[in-house]
Amino acid sequence: MSAHALYGFLLVRRRRKVLRRKWYLFSFWIFLVWYADCLPDELFDDSTSTVLLDSDGNLLGAHIADDHQWRFPESKTVPYKFRACIVEFEDRGFYSHMGVSPSGVGRALWQNVRSGRRVSGGSTLTMQLVRLMRKNPPRTYSEKVYEMILATRIEMRYSKSEILRMYASHAPFGNNVVGLDAAAWRFFGRPANQLSWAESATLAVLPNAPGLIYPGKNHDLLRNKRNRLLNRLRKIGKISESEYRLALLERLPEKPHPLPNAAPHLLQKCIAEGKKGRVIRTNIRSRIQKEADFLLENHAQLLRENGIFNGAVMVTSVETGEVIAYIGNVVESGSEHANQVNCIDASRSTGSIIKPLLYGKSLESGTIAPSMFLRDVPSRFGNFSPKNFAGTFEGLIPADEALFRSLNIPMVHLLQNYGLTKFHSNLKRMGFTTVRRSASHYGLSLILGGAEVNMFELNQVYTRMAQQLRYGETSQLRLFPSEERDISEFPMNSGSVFAMFEAMLEVRRPDEDNNWHLFDSSRKIAWKTGTSYGFRDAWAVGVTPDYVVSVWVGNADGEGRPGLTGVQAAAPILFDIFQSLPMKTEWFQQPESEMVEVEVCSVSGHRPTENCEKQTTAWWPKGALQTTACPYHQRIHLNRQGKRVNSSCADPMEMQHANWMIIAPDVEEYYKKYHPLYKPLPPYLSQCEGANTSNSLSILYPDIGQKIYLPVGLNGEQQATVFRCSHSNKDAVLFWHLDGQFVQQTAEFHEIVVRPEVGKHLLTVYDTEGNKKSMWVEIVAGRIE
Ligand SMILES: [Zn+2]
Repeated sequence: MSAHALYGFLLVRRRRKVLRRKWYLFSFWIFLVWYADCLPDELFDDSTSTVLLDSDGNLLGAHIADDHQWRFPESKTVPYKFRACIVEFEDRGFYSHMGVSPSGVGRALWQNVRSGRRVSGGSTLTMQLVRLMRKNPPRTYSEKVYEMILATRIEMRYSKSEILRMYASHAPFGNNVVGLDAAAWRFFGRPANQLSWAESATLAVLPNAPGLIYPGKNHDLLRNKRNRLLNRLRKIGKISESEYRLALLERLPEKPHPLPNAAPHLLQKCIAEGKKGRVIRTNIRSRIQKEADFLLENHAQLLRENGIFNGAVMVTSVETGEVIAYIGNVVESGSEHANQVNCIDASRSTGSIIKPLLYGKSLESGTIAPSMFLRDVPSRFGNFSPKNFAGTFEGLIPADEALFRSLNIPMVHLLQNYGLTKFHSNLKRMGFTTVRRSASHYGLSLILGGAEVNMFELNQVYTRMAQQLRYGETSQLRLFPSEERDISEFPMNSGSVFAMFEAMLEVRRPDEDNNWHLFDSSRKIAWKTGTSYGFRDAWAVGVTPDYVVSVWVGNADGEGRPGLTGVQAAAPILFDIFQSLPMKTEWFQQPESEMVEVEVCSVSGHRPTENCEKQTTAWWPKGALQTTACPYHQRIHLNRQGKRVNSSCADPMEMQHANWMIIAPDVEEYYKKYHPLYKPLPPYLSQCEGANTSNSLSILYPDIGQKIYLPVGLNGEQQATVFRCSHSNKDAVLFWHLDGQFVQQTAEFHEIVVRPEVGKHLLTVYDTEGNKKSMWVEIVAGRIE
């Protein structure tokens, strides 16, 4: 070879060498780039179970993951005992290696070569994590190398405790149980941090051979593995000799435990609201939830005999606004009776359950004072003639009594006096989003159950009122600690709320019902029941300074049942639940600055005049001061024979004076039945002026025997007509009745607008002096030519 050729040869060789080195460098660079990016951002993207926790982090219930695995979302920590067990069993060098254990690999190779088959994997926990991440691909040598590379990369990105945490969360424990948390619940019925050494050791040997656990099969093999691990733990000093001996005696799990299912409807609600696959911490107190559920199920057994299958209970803390018990239905009733329906979120007719709100707003606005008389006579409001539940009429009834006895007629009068539209918008401002239609759509039946509410919002309104009274500010109910507290003021002042709660205290509990005697009557609870039309819904809501409890009982499909009333079906559950709650605060403090102490006529409940003989004192919310003084007690003059006289017919010196209760004749008819001591107004002495006062009242329109032609409008509605009266006394108050039903009272201008149906009607008008005029009126459809 010539020098020239040699030079050329060397040059080429050198070039090749440089090229090869460049190639190596380039390959290494490529490898580094790949290596840096060889792990996905998240190692696992499996679907997870939805896990519901109580306020202390205890499991309330869980829903299986989409791939039908019990795989809880990754936990934040691995309990100490399981950590010790898994490291000792799987990878003793875990805390010192960098993802790959050379001695482990060497040992495994040696064992495999010597035995001629694969007996040992030599995998570190980090490499096993890679296998879990890669969904257990077939075990080949190249796969093994790949796992090693990824394991070193994992070690660079994550701390040892994170690696262990991910491993524990994704390790298989047999059948469809994945991860330590689900395994602890499924096999031992307890959270992982409460497992014993023996239990932790049992779980630690399973990921290596998950088939060992089910169902009680291979128990000897499993026990041997567990005991060997326990022995090793003893040797390295993790457990003492006595702990070891005791651990050996522990039994292996037999069959999987069902997971707790303490709040199934809340769990479903969370899933439906987009919290699927997460760990959801709630404000539920497990003890209270269980107790309330137990009491509801208890009562439901009896209710089922009467064809009542569904019910719901909610308990909230007044102090925090937290929902501490949430029972959406009676699970025992079975799916054929729609036990999956969440009755807390269902809109149902209110019955009387919102009557206290009208009472409170009427006090605030000065429409009534707390015990002021309301009319309780047969009444007609347009085409609406409400009835009291018992079918009785008592003439006049104190407002607070009308509230706690839930009389319908006085409350409809009250709604009319307070203002339907105003109350309707109050309900919306208070937070009832289900009161969607217009005030005129509901009409005055709004107060008797014309509108629908759901339990959550109902409970919220009562909780906010209690908060308003206790703290002067309120917050929305919170199911989850993650929800922010939204502070606001309730649209009713504290004085009126206090008076309302006092009226709801109800010391006179119905004693004919046996369910009541069990209740400790020394405990103060403001409460109200509601029964919807057709016995479809039974409600009860109760308030103390600490808790608000609501109960609903009925059928999810809306079927009504006799006996499905708030008092009979819902209230006993309410009181049982209160009985089970710890009592902290006895009662609300009276809000001094918003209330005044006043003299009150103890009969009528108005501010007294000098004619009111029986007086008492009471605390009123300030708004009530706007009500009138007692119109019932008046001074009258009598002669010796007890006849009424005046200066036209008797010598003033001879007269006796008396304060007398004077009520309208239409009311008197009913009032006197319930008040045997009531004395009717004595008649005038015949020669007195005003004795023949029947002339002072006259019906101006219609005339006797007149037929009234009323055209029917395009919408089918009868046109209205106006009836007119006159009275010689300009201060007279007249009470108008149509067909025996009270329609309206008038003062000063005695006119009423009515819309009677076609046919004959009896019009009767009374004044307070006992005068009465009646006539038949005939309404004819069509137009007079
Ligand atoms: Zn009086």
